Amino acid sequence: MKTDLRSLYKDELYSLMAELSGEKYRADQLFMWMHSKLKDGFSEMGNIPKKLKDSLDQAGYGINPSENVLVLRSKLDGTRKYLFRLWDGNIIESVFMQYEHGNTVCVSSQAGCRMGCRFCASTIDGLVRNLEPSEMLSQVYAIARDEAAAGPDSEKAGKNAGLNGDPVSNVVIMGSGEPLDNYDNVIRFIRLLNDKDGLNISQRNITLSTCGIVPGIRRLIEEDLKINLALSLHAPNDEKRKQLMPIANKYGISEILDACVDYYNSNRRRLTIEYSLIKGVNDSDEDAAELSHLLRGMNVLVNLIPVNPVRERDYQSTGQARVRAFQNKLEKNNINVTIRRELGRDIEGACGQLRRRYEARTGSGKDRNNDRGDESSAGTD
Ligand code: SAH
Repeated sequence: MKTDLRSLYKDELYSLMAELSGEKYRADQLFMWMHSKLKDGFSEMGNIPKKLKDSLDQAGYGINPSENVLVLRSKLDGTRKYLFRLWDGNIIESVFMQYEHGNTVCVSSQAGCRMGCRFCASTIDGLVRNLEPSEMLSQVYAIARDEAAAGPDSEKAGKNAGLNGDPVSNVVIMGSGEPLDNYDNVIRFIRLLNDKDGLNISQRNITLSTCGIVPGIRRLIEEDLKINLALSLHAPNDEKRKQLMPIANKYGISEILDACVDYYNSNRRRLTIEYSLIKGVNDSDEDAAELSHLLRGMNVLVNLIPVNPVRERDYQSTGQARVRAFQNKLEKNNINVTIRRELGRDIEGACGQLRRRYEARTGSGKDRNNDRGDESSAGTD
């Protein structure tokens, strides 16, 4: 593995260029090729001399390959699910969604996860490894390249169905992994994504979702970023939460919400509370009442997500009528609520499930041939 140049801040690239070539401006050129033109190989970087490419290579720097091995396209709403194979064979999952507020990419921050949430497929085999900043960026960049290649009129022309040709404007760190468990790499990823000479994605359009690692939230306050925070709460009290999320044994809800309020007070970004409704577990009127009480007076948006059943787990999704009743109860208590629009319903369910299925089908996911395509009736790339 090389030290990936895409993970370096611009001032670090300046120092490296000064050291290797004596030509500082090469850093700007490299930065542009990687983060604005979204090139993922030296061969495509026209104005970078071969000699410099060779010295970078000899010094252990480069761009690690990440291969897109599968794309599933929803026929319903333009959602696409991607699997990428990293340089070491690990498979990671990303999702592209089209919302009114813009094209959104959901990125994974780790291969696997060690948080152990009972309803989640990503965590079944534990944490494999943290993703590098470059490996988070490359998920966004690969998808942005697909959009760019489609061109602005692609939908009208009926070509490349599902691509609308607009740039990626929003990023949510809500794929596999716990971002605050890979803190430094995630912060670097966010800052690079936000760089004005890169994709320049506004901090306000970036959302980090966490299961509630209190020291991580507190550290985030110090970063002075304007990103949105989403908290995966999923239960109205600690006792219930402990049954669903092992992290609840470490941090209590009141301690987590205190940290979230401090985060809100530091930058006034509204907090989202994610609440996956699980039939008979956390979806009763009493649960709704308790949740309302817990969140009273806070500026939050509760995002209700009917749990996506995972084959290996026996949790069932709350039916539509109960979801509505839960929503009504919260609204009566003056809590802002949305029900997560189900996107890509036809192309594979929960977080981490696609990766698991792919790995089961192809073996370990390592050292396999590219078999991009041919996965389901939903249509593939
Ligand atoms: N670790 C982070 C981000 C990744 S999970 C976090 O916990 O927030 C993104 C969201 O999907 C979380 O709210 C998570 O609890 C939820 N989730 C995971 N598996 C799910 C499933 N099977 N059904 C519904 N939501 C799920």
